[in-house]
Amino acid sequence: MDRRRFLASTAIAGAAGTLAACGGGPAPAAGGEGAAPARRIQWKMVTSWPLNFPGLGTGAAKLAALIGTLSGGRLTVKVYGAGELVPAFEVFDAVAQGTAEIGHSGAYYWKGKSEAAQFFSAVPFGMNAQEMNGWLYHGGGLELWREVYAPFGLIPFPGGNSGPQMAGWFRKPITSIADLKGLKMRMPGLGGEVLQRLGGSPVNIPGADLYTAMQTGAIDATEWVGPYNDLAFGLHNVAKHCYYPGWHEPGTTLECMVNQAAFEALPEDLQAIVEAACRSVNGDMLADYTAQNYRAMEVLEQEHGVQFLPLPEDVLAALREASAAVLAELAARDPLSGKVYESFRAFRAGAMRWHEVSEVAFYRARG
Ligand code: CA
Repeated sequence: MDRRRFLASTAIAGAAGTLAACGGGPAPAAGGEGAAPARRIQWKMVTSWPLNFPGLGTGAAKLAALIGTLSGGRLTVKVYGAGELVPAFEVFDAVAQGTAEIGHSGAYYWKGKSEAAQFFSAVPFGMNAQEMNGWLYHGGGLELWREVYAPFGLIPFPGGNSGPQMAGWFRKPITSIADLKGLKMRMPGLGGEVLQRLGGSPVNIPGADLYTAMQTGAIDATEWVGPYNDLAFGLHNVAKHCYYPGWHEPGTTLECMVNQAAFEALPEDLQAIVEAACRSVNGDMLADYTAQNYRAMEVLEQEHGVQFLPLPEDVLAALREASAAVLAELAARDPLSGKVYESFRAFRAGAMRWHEVSEVAFYRARG
């Protein structure tokens, strides 16, 4: 976008979104006769992913397209990849300030805004996708998420789920806790804090920069998502050991955040369409990952010689213990995090009890 258009659009962004005044909008009715033409609204969506990146970017694109289709073109959304309008980690500010009306990202990127945000993406040893959806939609989680984002003028919606992620790519094998000491690893959110607790050195880097960071040796290890997404970035070319399970991200929720003023300026039916489109994409993304991950895993193993390895039990035990300590300390120092954690923890305990006799029992029985 050139500077003139950028300034023009930011000047009127915010309350009502950008009206389609120059192209695309209907002409005013002549003579004042007949029904008023439907107002056409154009929104900009900024994302933390490369445009159309498999799963994450295509999910954002599907969301935008669905809003346009369901609204019969009354609300259209133009998607910008990371760095096109704003960098990956400035999505939150861009939507809060109205530079864009809608954003697609992950809530753990915003711990600098509110530490409580991290609970709504992924919690180490937390909840899987099914449990996250149960908590968010029917367990009070989404109300808490909205409370956390309200001071920023943002309304969050669950906007996708990656399913279980992988522990990450390591140049050297991980055989003991000692191997984590001094390890410079890309790991966002609470997982990074846990890694730090065990002597690691976590950094956060946008996905698109991971390959170079590994290739140049700026980092020793990285997590990204799982086979489907990691194959797309070619991470198998910079490390051959891919460890599981993704203890730090057992079912990561992606987010669709909407500028509150822009959302409230919409008529009720368009508000419902935005909500329904988010809900649709939230479910569809998980289905996409479930279908694509095992196929990508086969390619990584058979065509690229990648070894998928389990983290040693004692390493997982140490990570589990450190996670509990990190969460307890966060809940104690930040009241809002404490409130969210209480709800999260109670739901997780109930879900674990139920899933012990349902999901876990079935996985064991299936063999
Ligand atoms: Ca990840």
